[in-house]
Amino acid sequence: MRTKEAAAGYDHKKISIATICSHSSLQIFHGARQEGFRTIGICTRERKKLYQSFPLASPDRLIVVERFADLLNEEVQEELLRENAVVIPHGSFVEYVGADAILSRFSVPTFGNKGVLPWESDRRKQHQWLIAAGVAVPRIYPTLDAVDGPVIAKLSGAKGGRGLVHARNRQEMEEKLDPALIDNYTLQEYIFGTRYYPHYFYSQIRSRLEMLGIDRRDETNIDEMYRYHDLIDRSPTYVVVGNRPIVVRESLLGGLFDYGEGLVEASRRLFSPGLFGPFCLEMVCQEDMKFIAFEVSARIVAGTNLYPVGSPYACYYFDSEMSTGRRIAVEIREAVEQGRLEEIIT
Ligand code: AMP
Repeated sequence: MRTKEAAAGYDHKKISIATICSHSSLQIFHGARQEGFRTIGICTRERKKLYQSFPLASPDRLIVVERFADLLNEEVQEELLRENAVVIPHGSFVEYVGADAILSRFSVPTFGNKGVLPWESDRRKQHQWLIAAGVAVPRIYPTLDAVDGPVIAKLSGAKGGRGLVHARNRQEMEEKLDPALIDNYTLQEYIFGTRYYPHYFYSQIRSRLEMLGIDRRDETNIDEMYRYHDLIDRSPTYVVVGNRPIVVRESLLGGLFDYGEGLVEASRRLFSPGLFGPFCLEMVCQEDMKFIAFEVSARIVAGTNLYPVGSPYACYYFDSEMSTGRRIAVEIREAVEQGRLEEIIT
């Protein structure tokens, strides 16, 4: 509520866009600048040089902090409020500052619905949301004994593809997992196929779902395992180190829209006013051409960094080069123009 009051008190002619200098921030600053906004980067000392080195994507102002979590400090929050700032959350934002702290201690207007955070950060709640949305998901094995085929174990809270172990069957998984840690893992059916991570944007202002791009993550060392599998004898890892652009067969697009719409509709029932702004489904397309989703990211994902000048889908919505970062800025600009800023921030 405090954030809505703060946004109502802002000088709407001087709104700025702020984020933490990490993850997809260059794209966010670049896009905000294209839409005529002043930009503010919350940056650590070590990263200052990097974030000053891109003439068209460096923020107009840097607020230098010791650590990113210092964003919660009163002086920093007050400074952002003085700047009429709308903060854009991204993956690193939640990782460095923490979902609980963002919910309880951050009073600067933030783009999107913070109410999604508990649903996104808890694997069980996320699973419940995906099912309510009509999205196909991998089976979850409640215990090791229930495992009846290839399986992937995920350590709770682990991010960026860390903490994953896969096995052909129950016995092999039993040998690989530390018994003392077994309760910290979710055991999921291993899905075979091709990965697609579509980037959606739900606009509150235009009341429509857009698909702004698709990527696939580059994960070391599983993705190039075929080059050296005969040289090493250890389990692959899934650490995300980059992204690749991709498009899907046009006949598969309808299914992707159904999933995106399902997620938005279910979110309105589960955590009103629901999901809006950018989000992404992490999926595998099986050989029967069915998509199975193992994760939803409810904010801008790093895969969108592939398309700072637009993607092979974004160009069907906009005549101008439209990145997800710029799309966020367009939404904020249109909300301000229509006196609806409070609707798109929490
Ligand atoms: P996550 O930590 O859920 O984002 O998963 C990280 C990576 O592990 C994904 O990008 C996929 O490459 C892989 N992965 C996750 N879940 C599954 C699954 N159920 N079946 C096959 N691969 C998976």
